[in-house]
Amino acid sequence: MIRFENVTKRYRGTTRPALSGVDFEVQRGEFVFLVGASGSGKSSCLRLILREDVPTSGRVAVLGRDLRSLANRKVPYFRRHIGSVFQDFRLLPSKTVFQNVAFTLQVTGSSRGFIQQAVPEALALVGLDGKQKRMPHELSGGEQQRVAIARALVNRPQVLLADEPTGNLDPATSVDIMQLLARINAGGTTVLMATHEAAFVDAMQRRVIELRDGEMVRDEVHGGYGDTSNIPRLVPEEVRGAAAAAALTAVQEVQRQTADLSVVRAALAEELSAQRKAEASTPDAVPAASEIPEAQAAPIEPQQAPQEEKPAEAPAAVGPRTHPIVLPQVDVAELGVADRLGLSDDGDDEVGPTS
Ligand code: ADP
Ligand code: MG
Repeated sequence: MIRFENVTKRYRGTTRPALSGVDFEVQRGEFVFLVGASGSGKSSCLRLILREDVPTSGRVAVLGRDLRSLANRKVPYFRRHIGSVFQDFRLLPSKTVFQNVAFTLQVTGSSRGFIQQAVPEALALVGLDGKQKRMPHELSGGEQQRVAIARALVNRPQVLLADEPTGNLDPATSVDIMQLLARINAGGTTVLMATHEAAFVDAMQRRVIELRDGEMVRDEVHGGYGDTSNIPRLVPEEVRGAAAAAALTAVQEVQRQTADLSVVRAALAEELSAQRKAEASTPDAVPAASEIPEAQAAPIEPQQAPQEEKPAEAPAAVGPRTHPIVLPQVDVAELGVADRLGLSDDGDDEVGPTS
């Protein structure tokens, strides 16, 4: 399902590789902890699996696909089979819980009927039914992470990647999130989780892959965390006043998922501008223009919209969007809508059978 073959990743301008000769394979349905000190290469591994980055040498194959040969334009479709959650939740702060979970479905052209069914199902799965209309700031950190997990699962991905998903949560809430991830895994979803939470790793006795300075030093079927001496102490992150940063990462997250659709840029520009307006009333939270680096103008470099595609027209910037965005000149079948609705009869040849 996920295979690393002698993977080395060297970032430009660095002397030491972030990953060096990493080799492992994750089977369908496994729960795998990725552990190691800060800087050992965990996030780099997850980025390679999401095809946010490519290895300097070696091969990464995910869901039967060699990611080297995956065309840029196919990357967003590939990513719909992979849910991801992060330490900082990455929710859109000016959208409700429902809208956050529905947003990528809308911009990628899912039908209204599908959204009305799939979003409440995903929210129920994470224990958030009844909170659909809340705004992110009206939720606890644990609830915000549940929204992010619901968003990651709404497309029913085969793989869930979690990069330190409990890193910003208190211990009791972290336990809840761990139990949720274990339950999701028990439902058949493959879970790969990078973490520093030694106690959870020890308690769960699942497979553990340990990285040290980019090298894989352990791959244990039922492992514990191991040496805890280099675990950083928990330092709470500054959250208040960081709404602009949160909006930006949320926008980037949606861009990541939908990178080839030019219309998304307009929707995201609208979101960011609404966010800016909202923050303009709180002077100390207003970000300098330079702190929002071209989020609207240059979404994601490799997956440019095709030349012949009509430039997206900026949607009217008033009121919340209540209808799915209509995508100009986009082949609906290619968006996977039929597949997600169970109407597709030709299987999924975008992403081949799991190896
Ligand atoms: P972890 O998630 O385990 O903390 P990372 O994968 O983030 O580790 O980082 C591994 C190494 O790669 C670190 O030395 C880090 O500084 C470096 N690194 C990560 N991303 C980049 C980047 N975009 N450019 C240069 N160096 C990077
Ligand atoms: Mg990391």
